[in-house]
Amino acid sequence: MIQRKFDNRAAIQVDFLVIGSGAAGLYVASKLQPHGRVALVSKGPTSDANTWFAQGGIAGVLSSQDSIECHVQDTLAAGAGLCREHVVREVVARGSEIIRELIAIGTRFDTHEGKLHLTREGGHSQRRIAHAQDATGRAIAEALQLQLRPSLIRLTGYTAIDLITSHHIGNYAGPNQCLGAYFLAPDGQVVSVASRFTILATGGAGKVYLYTSNPHGASGDGIAMAWRAGCPVVNMEFIQFHPTCLFHRDGSNLLLSEALRGEGAHIVDAHGRRFTFDYDERGELAPRDIVARAIDHEMKKQGVDCMYLDARHLGEQRINRQFPNIRKRLLELGLDLVSSTIPIVPAAHYTCGGIDTDVAGHTAIEHLYAIGETAHSGLHGANRLASNSLLECLVMADFCAKSILAQTPPPIPHVPAWDDSGVEPEVERIAIKQNWDEIRSLMSHYVGIVRSNERLRRAKRRLLMIQNEIADHFWRHPVSRDLIELRNLALVAGLIIRSAQMRHESRGLHYSTDYPYSLEEPRDTVLIPDTSDELDCH
Ligand SMILES: Cc1cc2nc3c(=O)[nH]c(=O)nc-3n(C[C@H](O)[C@H](O)[C@H](O)COP(=O)(O)OP(=O)(O)OC[C@H]3O[C@@H](n4cnc5c(N)ncnc54)[C@H](O)[C@@H]3O)c2cc1C
Repeated sequence: MIQRKFDNRAAIQVDFLVIGSGAAGLYVASKLQPHGRVALVSKGPTSDANTWFAQGGIAGVLSSQDSIECHVQDTLAAGAGLCREHVVREVVARGSEIIRELIAIGTRFDTHEGKLHLTREGGHSQRRIAHAQDATGRAIAEALQLQLRPSLIRLTGYTAIDLITSHHIGNYAGPNQCLGAYFLAPDGQVVSVASRFTILATGGAGKVYLYTSNPHGASGDGIAMAWRAGCPVVNMEFIQFHPTCLFHRDGSNLLLSEALRGEGAHIVDAHGRRFTFDYDERGELAPRDIVARAIDHEMKKQGVDCMYLDARHLGEQRINRQFPNIRKRLLELGLDLVSSTIPIVPAAHYTCGGIDTDVAGHTAIEHLYAIGETAHSGLHGANRLASNSLLECLVMADFCAKSILAQTPPPIPHVPAWDDSGVEPEVERIAIKQNWDEIRSLMSHYVGIVRSNERLRRAKRRLLMIQNEIADHFWRHPVSRDLIELRNLALVAGLIIRSAQMRHESRGLHYSTDYPYSLEEPRDTVLIPDTSDELDCH
């Protein structure tokens, strides 16, 4: 593995290392900054995080018609038996408080007659989504960024390569501890950061698929780094496909927010027929997995590349008021929500599984935490309820900061410098591009919305070959961002396939034609590094 001379002079030393500057990373950094030196590191600007793209909103119990119990029950129903109920209760109970705090720090949620305007999304039985027009994630991120103090060390454009742990550097006396991480700096050098506490807030892995609503950086780096360091991962087979991503050559990750359907937009085929009622009586407002499968099924049945979203009857005024950014983006691509139907396709949207944690982000490694989309806290179960994830990011970040601050801090560790002796310059980079494309394509075709034993077997065989090629390439050539992400993408794709193979039923977001029914007893799929796969129940 990585290595090898101890050289703390080369390391940046901090009390808290936060990797990722989406909602989870920004919030935990803001909570920790009064208590020590914080490094907030991200491989791209905050505008290149899933958070920035979140449109619909953040869920919370904010109206007198609603109740905590109702939000809990909606979350449990979407999660199809696999939510950890105590986590759901803890997260949901904090919703209104978190939203009020966001308002207090300047997040401009939409209001109507002096009150928060609440919208409704699929799977929610009440209007409970606070939103800032159709750009809620951006509004939250901007408000959180303003909270960061000048003393915070902000490293943007630094890509984490691997975590540094006591076991990796050969210290097996005692439990495995996280000591920091290695980063590829913008100038091509590798720097080490030594830290008392490390927090992974690295987001999801949508880039594993060809069609995704996620921005480029969502390559599952945190999950892959944690796995290599020795953390179990849970329920990786549950990838949420958003039913309504734009189908367009130049705008493939533009999401047509669920709120559009919440406000009355229809899903139709090329002949204008609303077909979703053939699959579920809730039609377009059924949970995402049902709507996405309905679209996927109808596309395959009709042999077409896309279906359509029809929002014309909402009228120009309402569309401009509630969905100005989506309309603007579409107009730039020559499409208009007001006057035409919009071609759509389901696309990988949210990674429900992830690093095994509790609600405060504790992992199996001491002083290592994981929060937000990279973590599996147990909130979402087999399917995430819309707008629960921004809430999860902030609640986990808050609990995580509190848990860290309640401990006696360990000393700042000594970490070895990255050793790249023996690596040779690359002659060509075509293999990296080719492998990226191959992984995304095989995952889409064989491990997409509908799976089968045969498709999973094929995917595994092909992926194994690619993983071997990458492993060989990785240690012989200088690291680059593309190579780091490719290595992680391949690992995460493998975890998704293995998890899908272990689930002998259909549940939530995992649908198998070989096992179309749900088993009586819901079980988590737990993968543990360095041991044989284990199916376990939490
Ligand atoms: C289009 C879209 C719409 C959505 N709409 C909603 C919504 O309305 N409501 C809702 O609740 N949720 C929504 N979601 C989901 C939600 O936005 C995400 O789950 C949430 O924002 C994740 O936040 P995060 O902080 O965990 O990760 P992210 O916001 O994805 O941030 C990850 C950070 O980690 C950094 N990073 C990753 N790898 C590395 C590395 N190797 N080295 C250094 N830095 C790294 C990235 O640069 C980034 O800064 C939406 C998601 C998308 C894509």
